Amino acid sequence: MRICCDVDVVNRLLPSFNMKKKGKSSRAQLSVGRKPGAGGNTGEVFLMMCTKLDRNGAKYQLRNNIEQYFTKFVQQGKATIRFQEPPHDLVICQADPIQLKSFLSVVRLGHQGNDLSKVTLSSLAPASAKQVERQRTKMVVTNRKDYPITTGFPISLTSLRVSDCTLKRIDSRMLRLYNLRSLDLSGNHLKTLPDDFSRLDRLSELRLANNHLEDIPVGFCSGPLCQTLNLLDLSGNRLKMLRSEFCQLEALVTLKLDSNELCCLPHGINRMTQLRFISAVGNKLQTLPASFTQLRLENLDLSGNEFIQAGPSSAIDRLRFPSLLECAAKAIHKHRVVYTEEDVGHLLRYLRSGKRCLCGNVCFTSHVHYLTTLDLRQVTSEVTAIDQRGSVIAPCEAFLCSRSCFEKYQRNPYSSLWKKSSVT
Ligand SMILES: [Zn+2]
Repeated sequence: MRICCDVDVVNRLLPSFNMKKKGKSSRAQLSVGRKPGAGGNTGEVFLMMCTKLDRNGAKYQLRNNIEQYFTKFVQQGKATIRFQEPPHDLVICQADPIQLKSFLSVVRLGHQGNDLSKVTLSSLAPASAKQVERQRTKMVVTNRKDYPITTGFPISLTSLRVSDCTLKRIDSRMLRLYNLRSLDLSGNHLKTLPDDFSRLDRLSELRLANNHLEDIPVGFCSGPLCQTLNLLDLSGNRLKMLRSEFCQLEALVTLKLDSNELCCLPHGINRMTQLRFISAVGNKLQTLPASFTQLRLENLDLSGNEFIQAGPSSAIDRLRFPSLLECAAKAIHKHRVVYTEEDVGHLLRYLRSGKRCLCGNVCFTSHVHYLTTLDLRQVTSEVTAIDQRGSVIAPCEAFLCSRSCFEKYQRNPYSSLWKKSSVT
């Protein structure tokens, strides 16, 4: 049984001599085993710690020698083992959580003096230099020739940049780097994103600029990234639309969408309450969704789009007594019924055509289409003019589900009283 991790050895007696420990944690290999030649399965079991400075290793007897375990953060690869003699605390971090758990259970067996015949113990041999080398946390690959094919990516990476390597899809080995905080795959040939980012639950920055992305899948917009992703750069792709599920990325602070082919922004954008920086230069935006009025930004750049001429407010009243089809579709959205293309057949298009009113309800054919203008200075502290004449007034369209919503919106389009749109 052997794991590699960072270990800090704390001597509990030092404070009583008014002494402070110098230094910090070092990369170490921890193993549990018997000394070579110590009588087969009967010899004493030791925990051995090898570091770069002491590759032969310090040994701690295990049987009845552990005072306490601290395992509250074992899921994050951290734990502490408190020995009685010598009075040392081994503070472990940067370990693989699964390996650490099984390592601790073997240590526990050794401490209790249980039968270890079913456990693979190690030989307590000195560690090699590579085993106690501090692991890399950053990696940059900017050339196809340097792309690791046989060696793999170190699991300790927190920042990975792989640019200009003509990658057509995200390497599944990258999706297992659970320590990653920042992933930069700009300048490749990515066409799609994988659905499952569930292991990258610490990722806060994702740069995917200058690829060939045409769609952001639903799976990407759910899972841990909803809570962790602060920065998303999708500039220079081929996106034509963003699904309503995209707004589930509620932790986003910075969103870059420059140089795509977007005709509109999702109507649930007000759900992303942390957003402070939006840039969508050089798209095909014609109007902004009404929910945009509820954002509170620091910087906004929507120049180089195809905004329609903003005129006086106009409403097209299409409120009718709803058809059975519309009632059924509304119920599906309201109760978040999960459906597939197989279930609903040709109605899929109808279901996806739903427009979200600012009150949160979804409306289909029966609605009021209200076109008005939005002074962008109302939603952001810094704004770039949307055209060459220096205008900061953008057209804004709302779909309102009922007469009362219509009247409410007419009275005050900037009202923060509107419920935040939820996404089904
Ligand atoms: Zn409404």
